[in-house]
Amino acid sequence: MTSHLSILKLAVGGLIASAAIGAMAQEGHAPAHAHWDYRGKLGTKAWGDLEPGFATCKLGKHQSPVNIKVSQAKKAALEPIRFDYTGSAGEAVNTGHTVQVNLAEGGGIGLAEGEFKLVQFHFHTPSEERIDGKAYPMVVHMVHKNDAGQLAVVAVLLKEGKENAALKPVFDALPGQPGQAEPLKIALNPSDLLPAKHDYYHFTGSLTTPPCSEDVSWQVLRQPVEISKGQLAAFRKLYRMNARPVQPLNGRVLEQS
Ligand SMILES: [Zn+2]
Repeated sequence: MTSHLSILKLAVGGLIASAAIGAMAQEGHAPAHAHWDYRGKLGTKAWGDLEPGFATCKLGKHQSPVNIKVSQAKKAALEPIRFDYTGSAGEAVNTGHTVQVNLAEGGGIGLAEGEFKLVQFHFHTPSEERIDGKAYPMVVHMVHKNDAGQLAVVAVLLKEGKENAALKPVFDALPGQPGQAEPLKIALNPSDLLPAKHDYYHFTGSLTTPPCSEDVSWQVLRQPVEISKGQLAAFRKLYRMNARPVQPLNGRVLEQS
């Protein structure tokens, strides 16, 4: 009779274990959300219906990413972005959708809207942003938050070329499994990811992943930086395609500095 009891215990233990693994697979330590993907049944077209909290993905009118038609982007006296990044220790985390780098103290940026602290940066391949319809092989999204909780993203486009030395500590030790984290072997200064020129396109958009929350301030730097074929291939071994398609502008006017 004891054997029945142990089987029952095992079954309950197994349930608890699989529930814990399920929770861990969710992004960061955020509350558990519905699973989503870039393709198939849980793909980008379905996001808005996967759970009520994702409704903005289909109902939002200011969604990201967008196609930037350069000739139609309004020339504006945009304030230069003030980059106050600092070198910091950190870790690269495989979120199940991308590789995200969390720095202990990476500094921040100053925009016309005020001061924002760097929260994390992550990668998409190909770039989600399109410039005159063309995607780059990859983009880095540097996500910032201000004291009021508003988000501002700086996007750095990556084109194929030389090895990107700034990203070497990340790309040399990419965490292979969802949920896995790898400490960076050396400090990383986000300034080293930036191109020489800081001219940018600006618009108001959203998160490009569920829950697709809006009122995100976007700055897409015009000048790309380089990444090697090998670095691109290392990322694509984990994520072959993790870009949301471009979304309608719905009357938004893009600005360029
Ligand atoms: Zn992103």
